[in-house]
Amino acid sequence: MSAAVETALRGPEAYAFSRRALEEMESAKVWPTPLNYELWLHFLSDPESALGREMRRILDSAEPFTDATADMLAAEYLPRGKLTEEIRDAGRVLDRELASVSSAIARAHRSHVVYGETLDKAAASIEAVESAAELQAVVGGLTTATRRVQRENETLEKKLDASTREVARLREHLEQVRRDAMTDALTNLANRKAFDEHLTSACAQAEATGHTLTLAVLDIDHFKRFNDTWGHQTGDQVLRYVASVMGRTARPPRIAARYGGEEFAMVFPRESRHEVETALEEIRREISSRSLRRRSTNDDLGAVTLSVGFASRLPGEDAVALLGRADAALYASKRGGRNQVTSADRLEKAA
Ligand code: GH3
Ligand code: MG
Ligand code: MG
Repeated sequence: MSAAVETALRGPEAYAFSRRALEEMESAKVWPTPLNYELWLHFLSDPESALGREMRRILDSAEPFTDATADMLAAEYLPRGKLTEEIRDAGRVLDRELASVSSAIARAHRSHVVYGETLDKAAASIEAVESAAELQAVVGGLTTATRRVQRENETLEKKLDASTREVARLREHLEQVRRDAMTDALTNLANRKAFDEHLTSACAQAEATGHTLTLAVLDIDHFKRFNDTWGHQTGDQVLRYVASVMGRTARPPRIAARYGGEEFAMVFPRESRHEVETALEEIRREISSRSLRRRSTNDDLGAVTLSVGFASRLPGEDAVALLGRADAALYASKRGGRNQVTSADRLEKAA
């Protein structure tokens, strides 16, 4: 939970706040599931956050707010919560494995002590042996004790093997969870959180090395109209299609991300403005020239187009300022008639 939500839930207005969350869910016609409740708490406590704004957008649009919408929002904007839960689970598994390994070791240790005592006793009684039968009894006792210790060792070995496998499985699982928390579920591109982190570190690196860094934002044109005409599911297919075209162009060190809704972003480290513009033009042209078909009905959907803006980082510029300039270039593309690529540098020079 964010600090804002925590404060709201433990402050003097806590009950009123919770009631408001319930009322708002009711008026939005969603069930008060735990996840919806959590989303609405975040929404009400911080309407200007990325999650708050995205929820406002969805609620103001004709899009239905389904369980899938809630899941998508949670995956996108509440990844820490899920990660914390998984880490807590992982902690429990590790505790359990450690406890069982240490009790297996303790058991093995005890039986080794007992075995040592058995050997001492046997040594003493061998000196006093007077008949073959007595010797046989001593040897018999030793054999039994040795087998017991061997069994104990085997158990310990198996236990260690199983624990090693369990811990390896856990490590893989956590790696998968980490990847999921960074990936947009619909398009498999990096999500906004991953992209923001990447952009921040890319800016720091560009500042340190003096290399260029270019950021592009790409937005599908009139996508609301497309959704209204063909339906949300077909819209989702288009998002996947646009993502796949971008993904092909975004070989490392380039990175492509779904920044939210029908908006995408790309970073181009160490490339000239010309190289970046050529790559973006290629994406724009490929998408606008392909007439799309709906798989299920074979309907001709026509082509979708993209508006693009890009900006090269200025010395000392941080991620937020760079995004602001790329966004301004994107809006110039929209104003200029859409389906075009605008460079912030050129825009600023013309101003
Ligand atoms: P513009 O050319 O000015 O960008 O117009 P637009 O309609 O694309 O922009 P607007 O921001 O008004 O609408 C964005 C639409 O994108 C609203 C919503 O229907 C759609 N959208 C956002 N996220 C998703 C999604 O995950 N799936 C689908 N199918 N549609 C989405
Ligand atoms: Mg759009
Ligand atoms: Mg948009």
